Amino acid sequence: MQGKVVIAGAGPGAADLITLRAVAVLKSADLVIYAGSLVNPDLLNYAPQDAIKLNSAAMSLDAVIAAMKQAVAGGKNVVRLHTGDPAMYGAISEQMNELDELGIDYEVIPGVSSVFAAAAALKAELTMPGITQTAILTRRAGRTPVPEQEEIVKLANNNASVALFLSIADMPGLVNDFMQAGRAADTPVAVVYRASWPNQQIVRGTLANISVKVQASGIKRQAMIIVGAALARGGEKSLLYAHDFAHGYRSDDGSKTFAGKVAIYAITEQGSRKAGEVAAGLAETEIFIPERFADNLTQATTFAPKQLMALVRRNWRQFDAHLFIMAAGIVVRKIAGLLESKLTDPAVVVCDELGNNSISLLSGHIGGANRLATVIAGITGGRAIITTATDINNLTAFDELAAIKHWQITNPQNIKIVNSMLLEGKNIDILMPETLFKQYYQSVRGLRWVESVDDITGHGAVVLDRDCSKVAVPVLKLKSMRYAVGIGCRKATECAEIEIAFNDALQQAGIEQTQVVCLASSDIKSAEPGLLKFAEKQQLELKFYDKASLNAITTPNPTPRAIKEFGVASVSEAAAILAANNGKLVIEKQKYAKVTIAVAKF
Ligand code: SAH
Repeated sequence: MQGKVVIAGAGPGAADLITLRAVAVLKSADLVIYAGSLVNPDLLNYAPQDAIKLNSAAMSLDAVIAAMKQAVAGGKNVVRLHTGDPAMYGAISEQMNELDELGIDYEVIPGVSSVFAAAAALKAELTMPGITQTAILTRRAGRTPVPEQEEIVKLANNNASVALFLSIADMPGLVNDFMQAGRAADTPVAVVYRASWPNQQIVRGTLANISVKVQASGIKRQAMIIVGAALARGGEKSLLYAHDFAHGYRSDDGSKTFAGKVAIYAITEQGSRKAGEVAAGLAETEIFIPERFADNLTQATTFAPKQLMALVRRNWRQFDAHLFIMAAGIVVRKIAGLLESKLTDPAVVVCDELGNNSISLLSGHIGGANRLATVIAGITGGRAIITTATDINNLTAFDELAAIKHWQITNPQNIKIVNSMLLEGKNIDILMPETLFKQYYQSVRGLRWVESVDDITGHGAVVLDRDCSKVAVPVLKLKSMRYAVGIGCRKATECAEIEIAFNDALQQAGIEQTQVVCLASSDIKSAEPGLLKFAEKQQLELKFYDKASLNAITTPNPTPRAIKEFGVASVSEAAAILAANNGKLVIEKQKYAKVTIAVAKF
């Protein structure tokens, strides 16, 4: 009688994490072929002593199949033991194909995958209610390529927990992918080496610092990486939303991240190395180092001796932030002549060349230097030095809140007045969504949430998006961002279809409908019934642009089909940019069945 092949999961390592069913087949096995170093040799003791045991690490596929074929023909039972669960990266399909061809019968027994052993070691729930209901099991490309549609940048544009097999070799690359996907720098990451084995090791961190920590741990293989807000559980829970604007990244309240382009300057060899390390943890950077260290850091731009000051002057307005890895005194001298106002100056952070201290030097709130210093300290494992009074008293200054929320301050001359009131515990009435008030100011002395401007009775007030010309006390007036939405649609598209696409695009970007002030499209669509009806329903102005105006705008995603049909390269993106007064595209074209949507910021 012909024997049988059983492909069985061995579990993650610990000998008691194999299933009873797999143990039963091992007990009657004549030949066990096990997969290398990740299958616990103790498991082989379940098989009879005289059973043959082969390590497949040294065998080709042909050799494995030949061994199975021979055994089965002789009426023997074969167990093929794969680590974890055979369905994940077990390469079992190629074996099953061969067995099918040979007409050999086989069965598959599941196992505890390393992803679940790792989650157990971390005591994590990968599908934590309120954060995510999805876990993605994947890997980054190594010798085996990963289909382009499954790159992390595309998969991880959400809050899902992502478990990565076979991906520990390039942590900086992995971090970069997640940042590009829109995950915030403070997103928790855990690396579990040899989960469930006696030498199991856990490294926890965030996207900002995990590369450095893993490098320090010496872990180079046999590790599961899990990324996602769900790992934080109760303690440091940060409810993240992933989608961000044209560049950068942020958490839902943006309070621990810095979205923007950072110029990093170093003047010593050690500093140049530190610049590379910090850049790996930030989303968008350019590094500037002296010519003579060019070989140490090939991705850096170099400058000639004595040219630092000229370089900083040239870069000053081109970057959202400047990080100087050098002594604070040098920096103060270099930037002194460039300072204008705390509303417009870029953030300046100084870091010593060992990364011990990251000092927020300039534009701590509106410019975001406090947040950037905190992020950098996270990367280098050092401390952030913050000196703004509100922050050290654990208060969120009103201009800081405006920066986090991307609000505009229409009367900045009042920033100081209301921030002082905040520090002194004076009565300030706050008119903004109640949830925000609760998040930032609920238990702060002197602050009170009000529902309308008529309720303002304090010494001062902070008011979002309301007319407060009649308020007698000092008010800080805030305005939330305004957006224009560009819409392209096929002929005869229904209003409802446009509405679904519109709502989805806004929701993905975390933009409130009330922040949208106009819609825009091509004049070819000026009599499109569904579109007109949608604009009327939303009570929004609908602006139309002709071909020449639309084509004058450079857009990231021109559509060949649109060029062919209407002679216009991009309707939704160009129209959004035009309608927002040549604003900045914050959501590139989103494609729905019959509709395209793009959003620009005024
Ligand atoms: N079928 C296996 C995966 C095989 S691919 C499973 O379900 O677990 C091999 C990869 O799995 C390793 O590179 C590592 O990323 C992961 N892995 C396997 N065993 C592991 C363990 N005990 N701890 C952490 N990661 C493990």
